[in-house]
Amino acid sequence: MKRKTVKEKVSFEGKGIHTGEKTKVEIYPSEGEGIVFIKDSVEIKLSPEAVVNTSFSTDIGKEGVVIKTVEHLLAVFHLLGITDAIVEVKGSEIPIMDGSGYIFYKVLKDKIRVLEKSIEPLKIRKRIVIRKNDAILIAEPHEKLNITYEGDFNGYLGRQKFTFKGNAKDIILARTFCFEEDIPLIKKLGLGRGGSLENTLVIGHSKILNKGGMRYKEEPVRHKILDLVGDLYLLGRPVKGRFYSFKGGHTLNYLLVKEIFSEISETSLLKASPLSI
Ligand code: ZN
Repeated sequence: MKRKTVKEKVSFEGKGIHTGEKTKVEIYPSEGEGIVFIKDSVEIKLSPEAVVNTSFSTDIGKEGVVIKTVEHLLAVFHLLGITDAIVEVKGSEIPIMDGSGYIFYKVLKDKIRVLEKSIEPLKIRKRIVIRKNDAILIAEPHEKLNITYEGDFNGYLGRQKFTFKGNAKDIILARTFCFEEDIPLIKKLGLGRGGSLENTLVIGHSKILNKGGMRYKEEPVRHKILDLVGDLYLLGRPVKGRFYSFKGGHTLNYLLVKEIFSEISETSLLKASPLSI
């Protein structure tokens, strides 16, 4: 497949969902360098090794510089096949926008420039199983990106399941969500300072607190898929494989990505082929 970048500078401004601060991201064209984040003149190349936190968001960093909540922008890069860009962050977090990938997607899809150079997608070649408590994440070979997420939510939502087969429309509008009862804990951790009904689907004891309810019947599990699409892009190239997640989140996603990354590194040492495992 061809590498892709943006035609021209594209900016997004908004609030950081965790810091609550005003923040801005500027995306510039680049050719063949992959995705590189810049903050305070520190360059952070996209890689599982750049991850510094996976609790409530995926954060990357280097030399004390941290960029929070990269997962939704990464999901949109992954869905659109944007392989090369310089992402300059003026703030400590990627803006949350409406809590989904929709605004990034809508703007970036018309700003793509196809490059001459090609990139090999990363193909999952063998089954990998990651477990943590009662959560499980499985990766196995498949010719396309296919993700099934199953959630087991307390209360009236119950068990929800959705399979993503590559159509961005099926997940792009799904918003970040939280349970009303978890809000005190999130606030106690100093997180969610920018969270509101404008950017978060809030699930109450017996109803959705947002006006208009859910955007999809299985909006929470579809959002979990969007998160996994973003976290997989930490590998720096489009991924082909079938994934099944039961109650997984950023930490489990990261453990899988790290495992895939170490397998690639080992394989590349043996075969000089960094493209697949
Ligand atoms: Zn998310």
